[in-house]
Amino acid sequence: MSTTVAQGQSCPQPSFFEKNKFTILRNIAYLTVIFLLIVLPTFNIVKIDIARNQSFIFGKPVSLAEGLAPVIFAAGIFAILVIVLNLILGRVFCGWICPGGWFAELQEKFRRMWWTPKSKAGEKITYIVFTLITSVLFSLLFLNWVTDLRVFFYKTNPSFIPMWLVFLGMTGMFYFELFIGKRWCRVFCPTGIYQKITPYHHLYKPTLVNVDACTDCRECVKNCPMALDPRRMAYINDFYKGIAACIECYNCIDSCTKAQSEKCLPVAMGIVKELPPRDPDFISGKSLQKH
Ligand code: SF4
Ligand code: SF4
Repeated sequence: MSTTVAQGQSCPQPSFFEKNKFTILRNIAYLTVIFLLIVLPTFNIVKIDIARNQSFIFGKPVSLAEGLAPVIFAAGIFAILVIVLNLILGRVFCGWICPGGWFAELQEKFRRMWWTPKSKAGEKITYIVFTLITSVLFSLLFLNWVTDLRVFFYKTNPSFIPMWLVFLGMTGMFYFELFIGKRWCRVFCPTGIYQKITPYHHLYKPTLVNVDACTDCRECVKNCPMALDPRRMAYINDFYKGIAACIECYNCIDSCTKAQSEKCLPVAMGIVKELPPRDPDFISGKSLQKH
């Protein structure tokens, strides 16, 4: 699997989009979902407003009970969507749709900058404050669906204290979730666990498609948000190290495209429907280290 790279070799470089294709597309998908989560309740297209004891459907005020129907319907669609996606495409919900996944990825980037064993006290404080801000924003994103957010400033409203209690509880929970970054998605997230234990099928599997081109630079490994070895994980049936954990984000392919294009080498990672046969040494990782 070793590859010799000529020193000073130059070659046409892929465009920025080609090098970041999946990152760009995923961010568009994630941000579209977050945009809808903000816009739908803010403009009363669908909203329950516990503080004012009413709901809205397409801007029209209705009773609280009437407003619950579309919310229960949306929750049902959400549950079905996760099941169907998982059955066909694996955990794409986590990698492309879940706003928690997007926030966790953002946090992970800052965590690696500000919360490492070598981080200074100032950096750690920055990370704590940053996490607090993202936790508050994340709580408000969801609370905006069930109340007029101005309730937090109106002491006379009967929902004032209950809403503050809910807000503080949610923010505490999200603080824990966001503080640990992508580890939340790897270990704790109930939706993630549910997708691992229910039937799943990854129709498209990221894997090493050009074994000879791989230089073992490990960029794909370093950039996998689920801490997998993307080159061989599709062969492993394990909750934490195998295909069950893969969120189909394809960061590994973007990373490989960038790393290989700099060396004028073909991209080694790709997406397959059928996995090519591999020997046990490859699957165990032994043959990947022979360079
Ligand atoms: S193996 Fe690739 S597609 Fe799967 S989670 Fe890791 S980076 Fe994403
Ligand atoms: S990024 Fe590409 S070349 Fe580097 S280790 Fe991964 S598959 Fe091999």
